[in-house]
Amino acid sequence: YEGELEYDVTEEVVDDLPETDTDVTLILGDPGRAFALANLPVDGVGLAREEFIVTSHVGSHPLELLERGEEKQFVDALRTGIAKIGAAFYPDEVIFRLSDFKTDEYRNLEGGWKYEPDEANPMLGWRGASRYYDEAFREAFRLECEALRQVREEVGLDNVIVMVPFCRTPEEGERVLEIMAEYGLSSDEMDVYVMAELPANIVLADRFADLFDGFSIGSNDLTQLMLGVDRNSEKLAPLFDETDDSVTRSISSLIEEAHRHDRPVGICGDAPSTIPEYTEFLLEEGIDSISVSPDVAVETILTVAEFESAE
Ligand code: PEP
Ligand code: MG
Repeated sequence: YEGELEYDVTEEVVDDLPETDTDVTLILGDPGRAFALANLPVDGVGLAREEFIVTSHVGSHPLELLERGEEKQFVDALRTGIAKIGAAFYPDEVIFRLSDFKTDEYRNLEGGWKYEPDEANPMLGWRGASRYYDEAFREAFRLECEALRQVREEVGLDNVIVMVPFCRTPEEGERVLEIMAEYGLSSDEMDVYVMAELPANIVLADRFADLFDGFSIGSNDLTQLMLGVDRNSEKLAPLFDETDDSVTRSISSLIEEAHRHDRPVGICGDAPSTIPEYTEFLLEEGIDSISVSPDVAVETILTVAEFESAE
């Protein structure tokens, strides 16, 4: 592996690092980096971004490819990218986040303008779970499920599991799980997590826990929605604060409620990668896994190890 990390991924670094009870995992998009980054002594991938593969290796809107009868291109590219990441970290778990493009991002893909509304607030728009059961979009979602099914069943990488992003209500979660099962991804056979990134996910954590096998906190969206601060606004950037009491109390409450229902909780938002003291806060609250960007992985493992040995 060349460049970008501040340290060498050497055997020495790997061998000297202590084992931790709390898993430290990576946030990853580019399958081309997977095998190099798998040299890091992490416990798998907590957030693998499908959108990266679609943008870099497909480039066209899935409904456009369906229209042209070229959907195999979409499934093949997605399968290859997912399998590369799954294989690099096997047998450690790799959690693929189902697609969470916003309409403005989809409109940038070839043909996207034909299928996507021009929304005033794409962050609050047609994104995440709401797409998967939509009459117009569900065929595209079928392709996504098919790629994941092939990776698990045909390639044999059953360490690849999925999480559902931006799931606004338990009813929506239920519909998505039904459709996934119809498309060959049954939650009886694999763990399916839900992201906790809307205040509704926190308030109704007990009901989401009944449906899903675990939670992954999306602190980026959670902060945006808890504080009503557009995460893309430069003007409001000083108000975007993951350490605000409303956000940290939400996280504490989610972990408590999820554990009451025997469900694990991880975090895959940027907060622990960008705010040094965040990891300690999460450990105090009893989080089960922490995903970080590769450049702070070793540092995070050391923080976790120090916390655990002090305990
Ligand atoms: C989040 O919201 O914290 C998250 C991990 O997802 P994204 O940043 O892709 O919305
Ligand atoms: Mg998010």
